[in-house]
Amino acid sequence: MKYISTRGNAPVLTFEEAMLTGLARDGGLYVPESIPKMSSADIIGLAGLSYEEIALRVIQPFVGDSFSEAELISSISNAYAGFSHNARAPLVQLGANHHLLELFHGPTLAFKDFAMQLIGQLFQRALNRRGERVTIVGATSGDTGSAAIEAFKGLDTADIFILFPNGKISDVQRRQMTTPVETNVHAIAVEGTFDTCQAMLKDMFNDFEFRDGVRLAGVNSINWARVLAQVVYYFSSAVALGAPHREVSFTVPTGNFGDIFAGYIAKRMGLPIDRLVIATNQNDILHRAITTGRYDTSIVEPTITPSMDIQVSSNFERALFDAYDRDGYAITRLMGELKQGGFGIEEEALLTLQKYFDSGRATEKETSRVIKSMFDSNGEVLCPHTAVGVKVANENLSRTPMITLATAHPAKFPDAVEASVGKRPVLPSWLADLFDRSERLTEMPNDLQLMKTLVRERIKI
Ligand SMILES: *Cc1c(COP(=O)(O)O)cnc(C)c1O
Repeated sequence: MKYISTRGNAPVLTFEEAMLTGLARDGGLYVPESIPKMSSADIIGLAGLSYEEIALRVIQPFVGDSFSEAELISSISNAYAGFSHNARAPLVQLGANHHLLELFHGPTLAFKDFAMQLIGQLFQRALNRRGERVTIVGATSGDTGSAAIEAFKGLDTADIFILFPNGKISDVQRRQMTTPVETNVHAIAVEGTFDTCQAMLKDMFNDFEFRDGVRLAGVNSINWARVLAQVVYYFSSAVALGAPHREVSFTVPTGNFGDIFAGYIAKRMGLPIDRLVIATNQNDILHRAITTGRYDTSIVEPTITPSMDIQVSSNFERALFDAYDRDGYAITRLMGELKQGGFGIEEEALLTLQKYFDSGRATEKETSRVIKSMFDSNGEVLCPHTAVGVKVANENLSRTPMITLATAHPAKFPDAVEASVGKRPVLPSWLADLFDRSERLTEMPNDLQLMKTLVRERIKI
């Protein structure tokens, strides 16, 4: 399997190379040259398998010969061994035709663990084999960073630097990044928003001298291997509810479009998905794009769903690439226009996107109201991001079973949950002493040069 860039002007890579690189050298995102298909019989064959066995069948066709079957089996097994639920991604029924897919039973209590734990394993294998060491730099709106640090801390093949917007993430999220004692972990609090951090990250990747000098590697949600790992739970949950004999729909709380893009890949592979519903908070660039065809950035407003406080949705480029019939020049042009503030999606491409995606948004009030009403009606305590999904899913219910992705554990966002239900969600026992551990972080202005100097000094290059 080969990987090509959405901007059509970067080297074609193997799965392993695309995973280790992250962002393509032309500024684009790597996508598989073609999408492997699973037949109805293949999908029927997933019934009754464990999460790990389903993962192997879904992931293997995309990996080609980058990893042997035995390597994949062992990496998948190690990745999910630390999850606190045997089903890994259990379904819980919310209403007659509405299910929650709980994706928060990993070590940092958000769905990011599904991908990050697996790529931690795959990075280590690949780098050990090559005898190489890399510098991982990531930007986070909160959950990516903690999941990445958890997956890479203590590895001797990588240093990991995580940039997060100072003061704009929850205390639990920050502490998960600042309390690990391993010296290869570097938590950096940047003055600005998530988009500031993401722009800095992109600039570091686009400075090839720096990029090659420090052997930069990216594990943000633009990393194809992360998207791929997330495809698995679309299959496991749909099969549990009767696929391929019965279609299902998904509602996905979205910021960077990574998680829902994994659902799109599942559908392209042949999983019978009826609707894929994008759920945004009031930072609703994706909802506006799907409904109006204008992809225009605006100011990021901080919300109680910080992991979705994003106005430049990186993975959307992958969906655009397909909607524009994989025309890298068209995507390069659009991304140029985005730098000036936005672009209009061509009519035909917009129709293609609307064929796959519906969308909705939730205001702060609506999100709190859903947390309260779910708690009052069936005792279910939702994290605010999940509540955005449930609000939008409720507007899209039909005869097809709806699966809403529960993206984080409520205890990761205790203030917002307590404000809605009057009760503070408790952390699982293994994180109970999080607030007693000491923190270690570096504060930084929005200054690219200073950031590069810091990275070089820390890794001594
Ligand atoms: C990252 C995250 C999201 C958004 O996911 P994307 O892949 O960026 O769309 C939603 N909810 C939570 C809790 C997250 O951590």
